[in-house]
Amino acid sequence: MGVRKILSPDIWLDNVKGLHVEHLIKRGIDVFVFDFDNTLAPWRSCEISDDVKRFLKSIQNRGGIVIIASNGKPRNIEMNGAVFLWRTGKPLAVKLRRYLSQKSIDRNRIIIVGDQIFTDVLTGKFLKVLTAKVKPISTKEFFGTRFLRLIEKVIEPTLKKEEAEK
Ligand SMILES: [Mg+2]
Repeated sequence: MGVRKILSPDIWLDNVKGLHVEHLIKRGIDVFVFDFDNTLAPWRSCEISDDVKRFLKSIQNRGGIVIIASNGKPRNIEMNGAVFLWRTGKPLAVKLRRYLSQKSIDRNRIIIVGDQIFTDVLTGKFLKVLTAKVKPISTKEFFGTRFLRLIEKVIEPTLKKEEAEK
């Protein structure tokens, strides 16, 4: 697998609400793994906005499973029925792997959605599941992330160009 391929998400989105949930579920993809910071809420936030909650609820109402896998510190977030995995250590994501195997969730059922190529998208590539990249909700983030963002900025146009040529 080439470097470009390992860094290219399958789907580019402005935000999580752009996901075609119904279409994905029809294709048998019913396990939605979301990053938290800057994907579902601003960095270090402790709550999910009502419209994003409604969106997650709509996944659950269609029979989908919502897993929130974050590298961040544990927080008390109100979201009924969602599974929270904190300090997952993406991209290796040992905790997430363990959870998926405990629940015998087949990789063909999973999509990973996140705002970062080097954590979220790469996790998906390692797990060999579908990946979607969203734009970060805010520009505030961990200083290490800001460094990776610079690299993302450089490589994204190339990745997108390749996507368009497919
Ligand atoms: Mg994030």
